Amino acid sequence: MEKNKKKKGSILFIISGPSGVGKSTLCDYLLSELPALKFSVSTTTRPIRGEEVDGVNYIFKDKEEFKNLVDQNEFLEWAIVHNNYYGTQKQMVNDFIDEGFDVVLEVDVQGGLAIQENDPRAVLIFVAPPKFSDLEQRLVGRGTDTDSVIKTRLNNAHGEMQSIKLYDYLIVNDSLEESKDLIRSIFTAERNKASRTLSDYIIR
Ligand code: ADP
Ligand code: 5GP
Repeated sequence: MEKNKKKKGSILFIISGPSGVGKSTLCDYLLSELPALKFSVSTTTRPIRGEEVDGVNYIFKDKEEFKNLVDQNEFLEWAIVHNNYYGTQKQMVNDFIDEGFDVVLEVDVQGGLAIQENDPRAVLIFVAPPKFSDLEQRLVGRGTDTDSVIKTRLNNAHGEMQSIKLYDYLIVNDSLEESKDLIRSIFTAERNKASRTLSDYIIR
């Protein structure tokens, strides 16, 4: 993984967790509430799902196009998740950082840990379900995936949960309203850490 240029002040917030737990729901909430926050639109080879829009939810590519981007060293990180390729393009994250925005990245645990290795001040937030059976209910309820896709995602959930201990924060997404409050509090607290704000503070 390449060193990513980092402007002082911008924070990378990583949100990970098993499929169906509510990551996108929480990201959408944060983006609607926090104008200084931008979403890193990942690139993927998986088929478009439900109401998704190319360039908004993901940049959709075929496998060959994705591999070309890998060869051209365009990715900050990339991984194979649920049998598809997913990656974070450096350019998008760097542009947001250069413009002074904080960035939220919804990536799997491999991606989250790779990004934190590159930028130790990145904040890792894991979203977990109250019970495994909630994942199936939510994936079925979302109505966007076939039975076989849901099965693959549920099978991978146990493995992803093993990485919770490497994350900075854990949100058990039971009541959505409580989870929204909690994730917002995490963002507020991280933005106000003395180590991040001291350089801008002038005593008069
Ligand atoms: P992910 O992005 O983690 O795959 P989504 O955000 O798409 O998950 O959520 C999956 C489904 O679960 C959606 O239909 C969403 O409305 C629903 N959902 C999200 N959070 C909760 C919650 N706390 N309780 C019940 N349903 C939820
Ligand atoms: P979904 O297909 O449900 O949108 O995402 C499946 C998984 O891929 C989720 O865990 C999601 O966080 C992860 N993912 C999405 N984009 C990226 C990315 O750019 N890099 C990595 N490593 N994982 C990603």
